[in-house]
Amino acid sequence: MLKESNFWLTTVSQPEFLQTPLPEKVDVAVIGGGFSGLSAARTLAKAGVKVAVLEAQTLGWGASSRNGGMVLTGMKLGVETLIKNYGRERARRLFALSLDAINTVETIAREEQIECAFSRCGHLETAWKPAHFDGYARAAEMLHKEVGHTVKIVSKSELRSEIGSGLYHGGLVDETSAGINPAQFVMGLATAASRTGASMCEGTNVYAITKSQGGFNLNTSRGKLHAEQVFIGTSGYTGRAAPALQKRIIPIGSYIIATQPLTGELAREISPRNRMIFDSKHFLYYFRLTPDNRMLFGGRAAFMPENTNSTLQSADILRKGMVQVYPQLKNIAVEYVWGGNLDFSFDIMPHAGQIDGLHHAIGYAGHGVAFATHLGQIVAKQMLGQPVENPLVGLPFPKIPLYNGNPLLHLPAAWLYYSLLDIIE
Ligand SMILES: Cc1cc2nc3c(=O)[nH]c(=O)nc-3n(C[C@H](O)[C@H](O)[C@H](O)COP(=O)(O)OP(=O)(O)OC[C@H]3O[C@@H](n4cnc5c(N)ncnc54)[C@H](O)[C@@H]3O)c2cc1C
Repeated sequence: MLKESNFWLTTVSQPEFLQTPLPEKVDVAVIGGGFSGLSAARTLAKAGVKVAVLEAQTLGWGASSRNGGMVLTGMKLGVETLIKNYGRERARRLFALSLDAINTVETIAREEQIECAFSRCGHLETAWKPAHFDGYARAAEMLHKEVGHTVKIVSKSELRSEIGSGLYHGGLVDETSAGINPAQFVMGLATAASRTGASMCEGTNVYAITKSQGGFNLNTSRGKLHAEQVFIGTSGYTGRAAPALQKRIIPIGSYIIATQPLTGELAREISPRNRMIFDSKHFLYYFRLTPDNRMLFGGRAAFMPENTNSTLQSADILRKGMVQVYPQLKNIAVEYVWGGNLDFSFDIMPHAGQIDGLHHAIGYAGHGVAFATHLGQIVAKQMLGQPVENPLVGLPFPKIPLYNGNPLLHLPAAWLYYSLLDIIE
């Protein structure tokens, strides 16, 4: 029986913070209770700062509990593009930032004793077309030469040792990437931030932020609050409270199905090394086993921001995709489907800095498990006046041309563009 709900949430018990009164005055108001906001709040509260996390829904409600749990090396843009856009030196620092980000997730999970099945299982990228496989050799060479990072190329004939599918034309393995149960991690992060002294205010929708004497006034669904500084970590759910970010971030839907648990034998056959797997298309499939051996299979099946219609439609599309990759799963039941919003900036880069005096970390483009956790911490340290390594400082954060914050007007054109690229490239 298919449930329209997030499988990961069945593995956690939600901490109860609803009753926390809204403080009248704080040093820092953090908007958004996902990896970005909670990581920032934990760092700030640890330094003795008075922090309140303001979350419109419940903590972890956004993308942070809904994602694939892939903790990946690199950025959405490959090293070659990073060099072209930002030069060699900055590209090297940007790639290093992605490795630091994975270490941050691992360190927080260890320090806070968060049981979230963190595992350095590596990732496998699979070539949808022969030309994509040819590109892997060049990508591997660039990674080695330019940023000193080693990956392994797997030919089509060797690919069965990595994946029980005959669909792909070869692969690229990166052993540094990791897997995690994202809902357990985000709930653990919430508990850790609360333990360090941050106030957790769920059901607190921030409607407007206005400059005032010595800081900002926040108008929320639970009353008013004054904060000296504000950190915004609202990702693909950014709304009118942060108009400057809303014009720079477009939310794009991504969807996931989870099957019934597979037998140990079938699980080993389809993913012998238990990697985080994704393919080389623009409308990529990403998939992995869960710790209880379900196949979790995701993709940008409907592209539109998530709603009930798009989610149910996606279950069908993703099931067909899964059976195309793994015909041996034809008779396996799909038990869960859910979706969430990814946050894309116009330059497909994360951004971590300040606009109009408001701090933010945003624009993760599907790489947010590691980046949101890390950049939340980095921006918090900047707010504390501590020295940090942040190669994103100084990057322009472009507005999306002609975009007024309504994705429904822009996404059909983008969908067509990327569908065509998948056919042509
Ligand atoms: C289906 C899916 C699969 C993904 N898979 C992966 C993956 O495998 N690996 C990876 O690295 N990344 C993945 N991502 C991306 C990753 O999940 C996100 O980048 C990351 O979780 C962003 O974290 P965040 O804290 O910035 O935002 P979120 O977790 O989205 O939290 C933002 C919060 O802000 C709150 N909010 C918004 N506006 C307001 C307001 N005005 N007042 C109060 N609260 C507000 C929202 O309610 C929300 O809870 C995936 C995303 C999706 C949707």
